[in-house]
Parts: sequence; C-alpha cells; structure tokens
Amino acid sequence: MKSKLTSIFNLSCPACRIGPLFPNPSLFFDFSFRMNTRCPHCNESFVREPGFYYGAMFISYIFSAFFSLAFAGVLIMIFDINWKYVIFLLTLVLFLSFAYLFKVSRSIWIHFFVNYKGEA
Ligand SMILES: [Zn+2]
Repeated sequence: MKSKLTSIFNLSCPACRIGPLFPNPSLFFDFSFRMNTRCPHCNESFVREPGFYYGAMFISYIFSAFFSLAFAGVLIMIFDINWKYVIFLLTLVLFLSFAYLFKVSRSIWIHFFVNYKGEA
C-alpha cells in the first residue's frame, strides 16, 4: 500500500492509490492538460462538481509564489546574480515546471477531499 504522500506525487487515484489521475504519465512535457474523469482501476469519480479544481489553482499559485521568492532571493542575495538574468532563469524554470505543478496541485487538491478506500 502506498502512503498518501506517495500517492499525491505519483499522481494516482486517492481512493485506491493505483489508478492514474492523468492519461499521460509524463510529468513535465504534457501540455494537453487532460485528466481522467474516472479512475480506470476503481471507477472513483475525479470530477466531484463543476469548478472543483479552482481550488487547485490556489495551491499552484502559493507554490509558485513561494518558489519564485526563494529562487530569486537565493540567486540575488547569495550568488549575487543580476536581477535581469534571475527573471529570465525564473521564467524558464516556471515554464518548464508548469505541467508538473498543474498536475501535482490537482493531485493534492483531490487528496484533500477523497479518502482511501482500500485497493478494491
Ligand atoms: Zn481508483
């Protein structure tokens, strides 16, 4: 049995922790943003109600805001890199991690609301 944390970062179903949340298993290079509507393993619904995933946007926002602050802070204050390069690097890193952040935020959000029901 996987732990809740493993299930979140493996992007698997919160109810059975086996079925995938997303049809494309790629973590970084999936720009289709499609999500399974039901778990292929236990048939748990991933679409709880209309607009359910708006909450995931706030998780994504909080993560990227704190990450950006820490990233820019370290590069500017510790490595003394010009802020113009820091902005460029930050944009690049955020762009490359966008699909990952999108998926993990949705995974965290649905794990808040759906409890583990066994492997079924
Ligand atoms: Zn499932």
